[in-house]
Amino acid sequence: MVHMSTSSEYVAEEAKYYMQVVRRMPPVLVRGEGTRVFDNDGRSYLDFTAGWAVLNLGHSHPAVTRAIREQAGLILQMSNLFYTTPQLDLARTIVENSSLDRVFFCNSGAEANEGACKLARKYGRIHLGGAHEIITAFNSFHGRTMAMMAATGQAHYQEAWRPLMPGFVNVDYNNLDAIRDVTTSNTCAVLLEPVQGEGGVNVPDPGYLKSVQDWCQMQGILFMVDEVQTGMGRLGTMFGYQRFEGVEPDVMTLGKAVGAGAPLGAFVCKDSCSVLEPGDHGSTFGGNALSTAAGAAAARVMVDEDIPAMAESGGGYLKGKLEALRERHSSIEEVRGMGLLIGLQLSGDYSAGIVGDCLDNGLLLNAVRPNTLRFMPPLNVSREEVDEAVSILDGALGRQCG
Ligand SMILES: *Cc1c(COP(=O)(O)O)cnc(C)c1O
Repeated sequence: MVHMSTSSEYVAEEAKYYMQVVRRMPPVLVRGEGTRVFDNDGRSYLDFTAGWAVLNLGHSHPAVTRAIREQAGLILQMSNLFYTTPQLDLARTIVENSSLDRVFFCNSGAEANEGACKLARKYGRIHLGGAHEIITAFNSFHGRTMAMMAATGQAHYQEAWRPLMPGFVNVDYNNLDAIRDVTTSNTCAVLLEPVQGEGGVNVPDPGYLKSVQDWCQMQGILFMVDEVQTGMGRLGTMFGYQRFEGVEPDVMTLGKAVGAGAPLGAFVCKDSCSVLEPGDHGSTFGGNALSTAAGAAAARVMVDEDIPAMAESGGGYLKGKLEALRERHSSIEEVRGMGLLIGLQLSGDYSAGIVGDCLDNGLLLNAVRPNTLRFMPPLNVSREEVDEAVSILDGALGRQCG
């Protein structure tokens, strides 16, 4: 192993050996604890990206670390041809805390959505005379696989890879009529995020999801929610759809936080649409004992300590602080979001400058759009950490928005 003494040496080496697919931020992070991460030059940062909405309990949560250590000494992997216990533990927690009945585990958010779409197509084959089209929204994000690029209604994720996988129709988000207009006898499902994350933290009107669900029920098609970012407490309820009165989807997908930092995804369905049979789907690593042990430990903490309620109160506190900043910075146009998925709309394309400035001052933030910042800290972030982050942001706004 080559020993690297500083971040800049490591960055230069990385440029030689790795595909330059992502423009990374400069620090080389070696350790995390709670809301803080540390780089190999000894600097610390407040992590308001939480490993991309993954570490909902914070970095190195003791219950998760313990579960991974213990499981590593027992059994890591058996393929899904055999029974293992941690996946049952996590499946039970997901089912008991949702309105859905059955879980399939895979390895990522994109794979979870792929599985949900396979389920929807088979449902269409069996119950809807071969209907196979799935309606999704513009500005959505469902992953980077061939099919999910077509589901994701954003041109820059699609252009270089045409022709796209057929069978996906993109419509405006938060607009029921747009869905009604494109629903045909070929439609088998609608797939939506409860709040659009990568699309810029777009919160729908309170009645939107329920009205889409009612439409789907009337048409006999499946209503599916992509909870890869909103699930596992982020919006202030265990699953994001639970924030919306009367919403009980047929299918829900999970990723990101469901493995608490270990790679894991899942799709979950009601018994009424559980159409996959032996041989229909599979995954070598899906539901492996290590990832599901981490996820099961995290889910237990979430339920026992009511972490979703912490997301709600912490989110309210952060939003209040950001609203107070808005009084003093005319560059802030809007603060929006739910729980601890919060967007800050700026009056110009200041995101990149602000994110760089915050990084220099010890705060990791995400520029979700050129003019929108996204806040997605661990759900158990403390008031003091929020205060510190907002004060760093305050300085950056002053310097970067002229
Ligand atoms: C991140 C994300 C995905 C993709 O998850 P991967 O694990 O990166 O494949 C899908 N849907 C939503 C809503 C996401 O936020």
